[in-house]
Amino acid sequence: MAETKVRQATWLTKEKRPIVIAGPCSVETEEQVLETAKRLKVTGKSDILRGGIWKPRTRPGSFEGVGAKGLPWMIRAKEETGFPTTVEVAKAKHVELCLEFGIDILWIGARTTVNPFAVQEIADALRGVDIPVLIKNPINPDLALWKGAFERLDAVGIKELGAIHRGFSYSGEKYYRNRPQWQIPIKFMQEFPEIPMIVDPSHICGRRDILQDVGQKAMDLDFDGLMIESHIDPDNAWSDAKQQITPEVFGAMVTEMVLREDYEGEIPIQTPLENFREEIKNIDDDIIDLLSNRMKIVNDIGKYKKEKNMTIYQNKTWTKKIQRYLKIGERNGLSDEFIQKLFAAIHDESINQQNSIFKKG
Ligand code: PEP
Ligand code: MN
Repeated sequence: MAETKVRQATWLTKEKRPIVIAGPCSVETEEQVLETAKRLKVTGKSDILRGGIWKPRTRPGSFEGVGAKGLPWMIRAKEETGFPTTVEVAKAKHVELCLEFGIDILWIGARTTVNPFAVQEIADALRGVDIPVLIKNPINPDLALWKGAFERLDAVGIKELGAIHRGFSYSGEKYYRNRPQWQIPIKFMQEFPEIPMIVDPSHICGRRDILQDVGQKAMDLDFDGLMIESHIDPDNAWSDAKQQITPEVFGAMVTEMVLREDYEGEIPIQTPLENFREEIKNIDDDIIDLLSNRMKIVNDIGKYKKEKNMTIYQNKTWTKKIQRYLKIGERNGLSDEFIQKLFAAIHDESINQQNSIFKKG
């Protein structure tokens, strides 16, 4: 997008910051949408109403959204509250229907941003149309892929674009549902300062208890807004029940947030050093996670060896393995000494764990 110009969004003026998008993960019934919108209105803390009509679900069989019949409910909610509406689109048909019903802003979900074919299909359906489009980051931490989606929308003439940071998928024990890896959206903002960047704490956290912290962090880092899922009866929501909050809890949460311009004294920005440290922390988490997965397999091997009356330590296979690791290490600038020590430690732990399996029973 280096040569292309994305124009400043008119739906987001500097005076309006932070812009707050709130509403249910999924549109479920007309009453639910209307009541959510009205109660959000009472809080005075939200600007735009979100609602998922078509839901990308990991496995088939669970609730996949009410479909087009939910669109008039969003429009009714708009008529009764004045909130502009935003809906997720994943294919051309969704775009057509949203335009037909008069949805104000479209957003592209994380599972769609990963797929250039799908993004291109959406872009083609929007050629010559004047509507703001928000693009969530892809589920994997790939900045180029995210930028690629902007380039596709920019190329068909969409003038008002915005980004939504919803975190990145990762394996292992989970504190976040999707790890924020703040350095990625920060890099994006540095490259494209004219594109507003909104943070979606709901999909980053996947739970209610840390929403406030993540939202505050987004404000401290000077992001342009928030997208927060809100439901009138969160525990019984048809999707993402664990992360949704009532409009009243939402209102209190946003009220409590301290904006950068309100800070007295030092503004808590993220320094480059903190950025590096966070990247290292993420990598360390991954290392521990990988080691834990490795030990699980080691334990399975231990059980197998015990069953077959085999010895734990098999010198030949180990020597062969180490030779291979030394070569890989060398290619990647890691010294022989380091590789030897690292794998000796891993190997010791593996043997200890297998020993305890042999002793059992
Ligand atoms: C959503 O906003 O409800 C959604 C499906 O989010 P994401 O695309 O971030 O997973
Ligand atoms: Mn959701």
